[in-house]
Amino acid sequence: MEFDWIINYDCNYRCKYCWYFGQWKQLEESVSQIPYEGIINFWERIYNEYNKAKIIISGGEPFLYPRFTELMLTISKLHEIVVITNLSIYPDDLVKYAYKNNIEINASFHPDFANYNKFKKYAIDLKNNGLLYDITCLAWPPYIKNIEDFRKEFSDLGFNFSARPFYGLYDDRIYPESYTEEEKRIIENKNNSEKDLKNQFQKDIKTSEFNASIAKVKNTKNKLCYAGSKFANIEQDGKIYRCGTDKKYIGQITDNEIPFYSEAKRCREERCMCNRWQGLLVEDE
Ligand code: SF4
Ligand code: SF4
Repeated sequence: MEFDWIINYDCNYRCKYCWYFGQWKQLEESVSQIPYEGIINFWERIYNEYNKAKIIISGGEPFLYPRFTELMLTISKLHEIVVITNLSIYPDDLVKYAYKNNIEINASFHPDFANYNKFKKYAIDLKNNGLLYDITCLAWPPYIKNIEDFRKEFSDLGFNFSARPFYGLYDDRIYPESYTEEEKRIIENKNNSEKDLKNQFQKDIKTSEFNASIAKVKNTKNKLCYAGSKFANIEQDGKIYRCGTDKKYIGQITDNEIPFYSEAKRCREERCMCNRWQGLLVEDE
């Protein structure tokens, strides 16, 4: 199985495009900490019932979560983990003790808040330690003009850089549908010649999970989808939902039994905002 786990609502940045922009105070008040042992127990049960899972952890900023490194070191003995971080905090202990085949860090570059030199230094160090390959930047409309420069700088340093499409409203326009053809070309990096792509593969850099094509926005309502069966979304309070868009409640990580679906079910949403439909929709129905 695969999980998106939003582990906290705490962040040291305040990006205007954040899902949580304008709601930080309210979210802070709603925080409910799950006991550490309850979390470990849940992931052990997942391992026993479904075998090794892939867990993509984001927040907030995950490294602000109490005992985060300890938690990751324990869970990664059983499962494969990808941590999405703004890389403002250097994960010393993770570098020292991580079981590296099972932990990967995905650095998200936020130009309005990140200190570029510090970000670059941390990223290089983590790459040299076998923990980081992918750097992403959100293609928020004001950032598009810089995306090609970012791509060049990070690619030259040996990273796999991808621009993630923005889902939401900017300047009264709805995205990603409002990207111009030129903006789409920049985001999707369509200038890559076949030769460049081959070189990229030859570098043996792991491809990102997050370089979803912006051309693929489509209506998913009533389509059969494996979200809730092969995939689930876990929120900060331990509640488990089918996915981050179709918030159909499945259970709580501290429940004895969690009734994941045994088959694909119909999606209730017109726009798959979590962009998880790829790989989960039943293609040939
Ligand atoms: S770093 Fe991420 S979680 Fe923090 S404010 Fe920016 S987008 Fe939101
Ligand atoms: S298509 Fe997207 S929104 Fe619909 S159930 Fe699947 S993952 Fe969720």
